[in-house]
Amino acid sequence: MTDILRKLAARDPGEKEFHQAVREVLDAVAPVLERHPEYRRNALLERLFEPERTILFRVPWMDDRQQFHVHRGVRVEMSSAIGPYKGGLRFHPSVTLGILKSLALENVFKNALTPLSMGGAHGGSDFDPKGRSDTEIMRFCQSFVAELFRHIGPHTDIPEGDIGVGAREIGFLFGMYRKLRNEFTGSFTGKSLDWGGSALRREAAGYGVVYFAAEMLAARGESLEGKVCLVSGAGNVAQHTAEKLVAMGAKVVSLSDSSGAIYDEEGFDPAKIDFIKRLKNIRRARIGEYVDKYSQAVYLERDLRLDHNPLWKIPCDCAFPCATEHEIQRKDAEHLVANGVRLVVEGASMASAPEAVRLFEERGTAYAPGKAANAGGVVVSGLEMAQNSMRLTWTAEEVDRRLRAGMKGIHRSCLEAAERYGRAGNILVGANIAGFLKVVRALLDQGLV
Ligand code: NDP
Repeated sequence: MTDILRKLAARDPGEKEFHQAVREVLDAVAPVLERHPEYRRNALLERLFEPERTILFRVPWMDDRQQFHVHRGVRVEMSSAIGPYKGGLRFHPSVTLGILKSLALENVFKNALTPLSMGGAHGGSDFDPKGRSDTEIMRFCQSFVAELFRHIGPHTDIPEGDIGVGAREIGFLFGMYRKLRNEFTGSFTGKSLDWGGSALRREAAGYGVVYFAAEMLAARGESLEGKVCLVSGAGNVAQHTAEKLVAMGAKVVSLSDSSGAIYDEEGFDPAKIDFIKRLKNIRRARIGEYVDKYSQAVYLERDLRLDHNPLWKIPCDCAFPCATEHEIQRKDAEHLVANGVRLVVEGASMASAPEAVRLFEERGTAYAPGKAANAGGVVVSGLEMAQNSMRLTWTAEEVDRRLRAGMKGIHRSCLEAAERYGRAGNILVGANIAGFLKVVRALLDQGLV
């Protein structure tokens, strides 16, 4: 297996995030490969780790001062072995091909865990939406989709939101797509309810994270009631994780953005969460403004020179990293463990660095990776696609029921797979094995394509 990693590193030396993602999969599925030597034949693993297609394109656009800019657009179509490509679009200056490939691989496994089988993809651009006007965002999205539209479609590739791509961006992307294609098809998910969206799609990833955490606790005879929870991030996933945690009786004391974190020892309530939603989604302001209104709260400014994030030093029962990948480093994990954290559930994909995950395993901290815990987003995306195909709309209650059942099923699949291969209780290993088996069997069935 090290030869696979060596070859990947030699071919694409700059893609260390992708190499890390591959290593995680290979480590987790080692017991499967031991039991099934046939999975090492026919270049099955090599095929799994090479995207079926990678599209790189120029995105030229003009700002409000009539200055021209050129960004790079990317879509990594990793695998369509079990369904059409599905995955987010990310607009953030940190975007690289290595990051998008690692997210696309993550989605291959995550999407395989959901009841509606879908393939895996991810895409985006190094464009920074921060501080841009609505018209600038619209022009950028239109230019982006003017190329992407050729490669996507309801049976081919169905993008959705991710960091920097929310309801506003999906609207602009879909509008231009519809015009260019001259057809109204569900080729994006996360659409507004008024024009083809599903109830609860916006809430789905965060709500799903909490349902997953509730399953993990229930397996230990516990519940979220009264648990002190840290949530990081203040975007889509973080807001809805915090909202559902509060609704289920937990005490949520933090949120953050890339500038810093807020710590409200009294805990959030629905009114405070509404305030944060308005602050971040409508005013697009910084999370630090929370303490101007709620003076009992503390603002912890982020110091990028530190090798840890002060947020994770706050004592808690449960931690929900919901901002970005590798936001929990080894040092952060040490603080969490020293303060007695019992449960770490990732809302963000690959939120914990590998050394942090190792520490959680060593110390017996219950840990769920994003590829299992944040699958609620893609579960409801699948439901949105199903509603679009049938041209009907389910109620929020119906979607919530299916989301909750979906998360319960994913939790059960992870535990069963881990148990079957001698790693009982390890959700990281179980998620990788369950997803891996589904995809490699499809690859074997379908021949060398
Ligand atoms: P948003 O853009 O809505 O929010 C991201 C939040 O994280 C913002 O508060 C942002 O701060 C913060 N953040 C982003 N980058 C960094 C960084 N480098 N350091 C510190 N903070 C950062 O994104 P989402 O909530 O949609 O996504 C968050 C995570 O969840 C991602 O890992 C994504 O892949 C994952 N995810 C999202 C799904 C979805 O449906 N949206 C589904 C499944 C997973 P600021 O406001 O300062 O930029």
